[in-house]
Amino acid sequence: MPRERSSILILGGTEQARRLAERLDVDARFSVTTSLTGVTREPKPIAGRVRSGGFGGSEGLRSFLEERDIDLLIDAVHPFAVQMSSNAAQAADAAGIACLRLERAPWTKRPGDRWAEVADIAAAAQAIPKGARALVTVGRQEIAPFLARDDVAVIARMIERPDCPVPEHAEIILARPPFTLEDEKALVTARRIDVLVTKNSGGDATVAKISAARALNLPVIMVGRPEKPVVSTVRSVDEMIALIERALD
Ligand code: NAP
Repeated sequence: MPRERSSILILGGTEQARRLAERLDVDARFSVTTSLTGVTREPKPIAGRVRSGGFGGSEGLRSFLEERDIDLLIDAVHPFAVQMSSNAAQAADAAGIACLRLERAPWTKRPGDRWAEVADIAAAAQAIPKGARALVTVGRQEIAPFLARDDVAVIARMIERPDCPVPEHAEIILARPPFTLEDEKALVTARRIDVLVTKNSGGDATVAKISAARALNLPVIMVGRPEKPVVSTVRSVDEMIALIERALD
């Protein structure tokens, strides 16, 4: 006998994943579970079921998909969470179900932008000119290579305090997006910032720093997105709902 509801596992940790869960949870056709790493100390509430912690690689995820009888896997992790996306594609393939990706578009360079594009966090840390005052917006788990630069002044903005020690030459600003253009311009001016460091996360919540840099003629060290396995990918929650309907039809 066919089951009444299709069982969907969302790999989350992003605002889009949270919004997708909210939409699917009120739809009687679906039973939705969101998976989080459990690393964030105070995650925002999520609709539907939530489970926490790693699966134990792609094999562990495959077992989870099979044991829970999951019909569809949605990879909605952050564009930089490359390990999880690789595991997702592999596990779904092994379990014989589809893996669909929800990933917001990257920011693109506009006239007036002064971006130095680099491949990864290590290269970004090295690219800060000696003596500069750098506003670093990469997240607490990636801050260590910047804090190790004792020849630059690091002003690091993040949501939660890092676990590692913070040296004298660095300042941590704790703040949660969204940020406005006026706030970002004020921060850059007040802290006498010479360069902004960011990952190309895309999305609206943190784009104001890019606009502020453009307005203030500030150079940006932009970390490019890592390559992920090719799966069906859409940019918005609405497009994902349509894709899910087609995939489960
Ligand atoms: P990652 O390097 O791609 O993944 C490392 C390991 O963490 C995975 O192999 C998996 O462990 C576990 N993991 C990752 N996402 C998971 C999830 N949603 N549910 C259960 N386990 C998960 O990931 P990351 O870059 O550290 O990101 C971790 C989480 O933070 C993701 O949920 C991501 O959406 C969110 N996030 C990341 C960034 C970023 O810049 N990277 C920014 C904002 C939010 P097992 O192999 O044991 O399954």
